[in-house]
Amino acid sequence: MNGRRRRGGADLDAVVVGAGPNGLAAAVTLARAGLRVRVYERGERAGGGAATRELTLPGFRHDVCSAVHPMAFESRFFREFGLRKRVRFVTPDVSFAQPLSMGRAGIAYRDLAQTRDALGADGRAYERLLRPLVARSTEVAEFTGSSLLRLPDHPGTVIRFGLRALEQGTASWNARFREDVAPAMLTGVAAHTILAQPSLAAAGAGLALTAYAHARGWPIPVGGSQAIIDAMVEDFEAHGGELMLGHEVTALEALPDATATLLDVTPKALIRLAGAAMPSRYRRALQRFRYGDGVAKVDFALSDPVPWTHPELRRAGTVHVGGTRAEVADAENQVHRGRVPENPYVLVSQPSLFDPTRAPTGKHTLWTYTHVPAGSPVDRREAVVKQIERFAPGFRDTILAVSSRSARDVERHNPNYHGGDIAAGAPDLWQLVRRPVLHPDPWRTPIPGVYLASASTAPGPGVTGMPGWFAATSALRHEFGTSTLPDLSPRR
Ligand SMILES: Cc1cc2nc3c(=O)[nH]c(=O)nc-3n(C[C@H](O)[C@H](O)[C@H](O)COP(=O)(O)OP(=O)(O)OC[C@H]3O[C@@H](n4cnc5c(N)ncnc54)[C@H](O)[C@@H]3O)c2cc1C
Repeated sequence: MNGRRRRGGADLDAVVVGAGPNGLAAAVTLARAGLRVRVYERGERAGGGAATRELTLPGFRHDVCSAVHPMAFESRFFREFGLRKRVRFVTPDVSFAQPLSMGRAGIAYRDLAQTRDALGADGRAYERLLRPLVARSTEVAEFTGSSLLRLPDHPGTVIRFGLRALEQGTASWNARFREDVAPAMLTGVAAHTILAQPSLAAAGAGLALTAYAHARGWPIPVGGSQAIIDAMVEDFEAHGGELMLGHEVTALEALPDATATLLDVTPKALIRLAGAAMPSRYRRALQRFRYGDGVAKVDFALSDPVPWTHPELRRAGTVHVGGTRAEVADAENQVHRGRVPENPYVLVSQPSLFDPTRAPTGKHTLWTYTHVPAGSPVDRREAVVKQIERFAPGFRDTILAVSSRSARDVERHNPNYHGGDIAAGAPDLWQLVRRPVLHPDPWRTPIPGVYLASASTAPGPGVTGMPGWFAATSALRHEFGTSTLPDLSPRR
């Protein structure tokens, strides 16, 4: 890299703390710029929220956190990195589905026209809501995949998107529909955000994800989410990067001297790591950053596929269990008020239907999680089994083994998920604008050379690599004097 500035005596150019998707996106970008980079990760393997392990029985490979990757084909970082050329994905023809009473279901085919036809009376209304966003899914991903304080490149798309989010994020959300299937499907996706329903941020995230479902689909990596991480680590090491596993960083001053330090941690952790080095005004701003509600995760080893009553559910990559829009909203709003709902909303994926590497021949892995109040110690295995049984009678008889983690366990596994908050900070509208502070370059901290690179920064949660990539580009500009972005493609 030309024009590089290096702090006197530093034997490293950059240090990255945390080898989650964002820490690794930052590390890969910096290593590709020709810098000497070292990553410290507290876990015994890299991955953070994208790890695959045998959680139940030998031969059953479960995604510990993320499982389905709507952003794998849409995120700018992954497109530049050429993720599709490095990792094999399967993209189910049914992106997501939602079972309803009396054997009915909402089926989101990748093909929007097929979805419209299956929806009957509300098919046209659903199509009119989604078609303009599906046609511009890359522009939607660009806008939602950046800091909301930046001027958008495609204002027309932002207006179309904003008007639809206003409709679906407010009390008028049912206005265009006559039946209950299409509204249920939309709320099933919006509820990924763990926010009150309806709300603008939930509707915005839901519409973006639904648009991707009908554009490039919701892909699942062959071998599990770990395959994405393995591809990033391989590229990082091939470009001279050093990965130190099993190494928890407890203070910034304990790190080796380097020109730039990028942290894949929450604002809360940054306050602790920086200690007195943090200016008090910035500390107060970070202390105002709020964490959201949590998840309880339940993984199953199964003898057979889930016996869904509706046959099309067996083709779905993701199933949103919880019933109608009103039922899902009620469950989510109870969580928002600090209660554990009796009939929860449950996210379900059975990756072994699409990827035989996940379970012994003929057997299956089932990934589920459900929302709970922040820090809840409650084990939700029975509630999850009961909700699935509602739409798949006989499910209980297929269970061979279960691994269940409360929200507290989720935080113990990874401190970035404070109270079990898998978004590393509530993704409400205000916190999407101010993530983690109100600044056009929210990744750069006032501590010289120190950057935040995690999902607690813009554009927020999900396996996208975008916060890490933005943090690295900011560090390249400010610490190394270059605005030229390195080539990340697999050809090099
Ligand atoms: C149960 C669950 C389900 C999810 N499902 C999906 C999904 O299906 N699709 C999707 O796109 N997203 C999903 N997510 C969210 C996604 O996993 C996260 O948004 C994403 O992993 C955030 O990446 P990150 O790099 O910012 O943080 P993380 O992935 O959390 O990585 C942070 C890393 O930093 C390490 N670390 C933290 N502190 C230190 C320290 N002091 N020293 C050294 N290392 C440290 C941690 O061990 C960890 O490896 C899910 C998350 C969870 C928990």
